[in-house]
Amino acid sequence: MNTAIINSDSYEKHFTGDGHPEQPKRVIAIKDKLKKRNDLIWEKPKKVPEKILEMTHSKDYINYLKNSFPQKGLKFLDGDTVVSPSSKKAIFEAAGSTIRAVDGIENNQFKNAFCLARPPGHHAEKNKAMGFCCISNAGVAMNYLINKYNYKKIACVDFDVHWGNGNYDVMRDNENSLYISTHQYPFYPGGGTDKDKGDFNNSLNIPLPAGTNSEQYFNAFDRVLERLIQYKPEFLIFSAGFDAHKDDPLAQFQLSSKDFYEITKRTLFATKDFTQGKVISILEGGYDLNALAESANEHVNALVEFN
Ligand SMILES: [Zn+2]
Repeated sequence: MNTAIINSDSYEKHFTGDGHPEQPKRVIAIKDKLKKRNDLIWEKPKKVPEKILEMTHSKDYINYLKNSFPQKGLKFLDGDTVVSPSSKKAIFEAAGSTIRAVDGIENNQFKNAFCLARPPGHHAEKNKAMGFCCISNAGVAMNYLINKYNYKKIACVDFDVHWGNGNYDVMRDNENSLYISTHQYPFYPGGGTDKDKGDFNNSLNIPLPAGTNSEQYFNAFDRVLERLIQYKPEFLIFSAGFDAHKDDPLAQFQLSSKDFYEITKRTLFATKDFTQGKVISILEGGYDLNALAESANEHVNALVEFN
């Protein structure tokens, strides 16, 4: 079976203002790269059930978000989270990409999926937009897997260079989830130390210093793999940020594009006996367009190899 890419034109119309690093060209660069391949199937997002949004975020926050879009121009939801009139469709369709991905896997239409969507989601907390993010897309996927398909053990591996405080916030009190993150520390958004264990000892956070290179990263990543093997997840979610790349302008890790193939391959290899290869991946950060496209393509290489 194939790997699916879930994508919509709306992701290219979420305007964040000139010079904003979380820009439409990000998804265009990845799309241009992936469209050159002939081993992928392309699908559109589905609508997210309201119930799932409200399991992930507070009802008040969802209402606030729905009423936050300007008629024209830009609106700031926090210092760096910007929306414009067409952002509403993109934001809810980004969350909806995970619904399409999960349904496709459960209905045996494809083996695994990469949600080529923006805005990203891993900084969005239950009650707060933050860090370019409005909805925790990974949190939506997790709640949908639990609510619709009755999964009991879902692991989210977040290899974005920033700590996914939003993913942590929406997953920490859910005993059916395990949230794992590797990230630069001390760094934005703060937090993500070994003190953040989740309410059910269901989170593993591995802070690493600026300058972390490939060898140091993979030494630390062995702890991720050990924890996954111990946990035996039934379904895997990647929060796939590519800003740990050495060319990324927003952070100071030293990974290569090929390292994202390794991260993905090692994770899939460690979990395949438990998940039967059921995995969805959701785009998070990554701000150097060339590095982003190359790294995402390497990530997809491993998804294709394991399907
Ligand atoms: Zn990031």
